[in-house]
Amino acid sequence: MSDWQWAGMMMGDEAYAGSRNFYHLEEAVQHHYGYKYVVPTHQGRGAENLLSRMLIKPGDFVPGNMYFTTTRLHQELAGGTFVDVIVPEAHDPVAEVPFKGNVDLNVLEKLIQRVGADLVPYVCVAATVNMAGGQPVSMANMREVRELTRRHGIRIFLDATRAVENAYFIQQREAGYRERGVADILKEFCSYSDGCTMSGKKDSLVNIGGWLALNDPALYEEASNLVVVYEGLHTYGGMAGRDMEAMARGIVESVQDDHIRARVGQVEYLGQKLIKAGVPVVRPIGGHAVYLDARAFYPQIVQDQFPAQTLAALLYEDSGVRAMERGIVSAGRDSDTGEHHYPALELVRLTIPRRVYTQAHMDVTAESVVAVYHERPSARGLRMVYEPRYLRFFQARFSPL
Ligand SMILES: *Cc1c(COP(=O)(O)O)cnc(C)c1O
Repeated sequence: MSDWQWAGMMMGDEAYAGSRNFYHLEEAVQHHYGYKYVVPTHQGRGAENLLSRMLIKPGDFVPGNMYFTTTRLHQELAGGTFVDVIVPEAHDPVAEVPFKGNVDLNVLEKLIQRVGADLVPYVCVAATVNMAGGQPVSMANMREVRELTRRHGIRIFLDATRAVENAYFIQQREAGYRERGVADILKEFCSYSDGCTMSGKKDSLVNIGGWLALNDPALYEEASNLVVVYEGLHTYGGMAGRDMEAMARGIVESVQDDHIRARVGQVEYLGQKLIKAGVPVVRPIGGHAVYLDARAFYPQIVQDQFPAQTLAALLYEDSGVRAMERGIVSAGRDSDTGEHHYPALELVRLTIPRRVYTQAHMDVTAESVVAVYHERPSARGLRMVYEPRYLRFFQARFSPL
């Protein structure tokens, strides 16, 4: 966190109700994201839980531009079925498309026609799309999704976790946005949705925290009641006053053009280094991470033997660089059949915490990835020896084959 955020930590107002830091947070969200109401939560999944419980009933379908782990689980626990409506290019690691996170409007329209709008409580649009490689959604696409859902009376909720990064990509890649600031683009983007869930640990530059934002007063009333059950009173939602202050300040800093350019630029630096070395990565390079294509590393390892998990393990053994599997382990099991989901992408996410690392750390990481890449013919897969029931990628254990 910045000096200004740390200074804010010293200004924590820990009154049980109505901490002044809550009002600073509320103001920062209203000003920069444009939503009317804010319900703080302990982190992003707390907000997902509230939203899913409020809006999803058993038998509903929740379309989204590729699944996210915690998001989909909360939708399923509420009785809903997630339906992927992302554009097909998103499943192809080498397709050089500027907005691989876009929603496929035909697929969405067909779903609504098939099941009926009454069974679609909302469309969940993630920006950027983590599981596709940190890929952005265009403003034009967001506008079209708004138009389509308006016709059917369906809400849109944004997963705004990395919406600032998304706004930066719009500025860089979409016609008509070059001269506009990221803050301004972010606000326009959010204006096409009815609210959002947020993990403050990402764009908002803090170590813990999140929020649910809403425009509908009736939904806000329900959320500010439900949050008392699962998180804490509606003016702290599981966070200390000091944490809300750090997040309020983090939001203000996060939308500065210089900040986000430097942040995405560092990711790009690592990505270009790996591309130059011939390492297979998801193209184009995403906003917060470089994604290694484990299928291309290890064609000899079948998906049931966890190629991406294998790569993450070998990288850790080589250098202590800890990466994240984003393949079959993360995809989990079908909640009806109990079978593995088999995602098209087997990726390893080199996620870069912002404001932590220097260029030299990127160099060390690249060296290690290249070393592991050169050893690729000798790699064997893994066997899962412990599998927890929910979100197994967090706690599963493996042994080498
Ligand atoms: C991290 C994340 C979440 C969940 O947020 P937590 O704060 O980890 O609970 C949801 N969606 C996306 C896209 C994320 O990156």
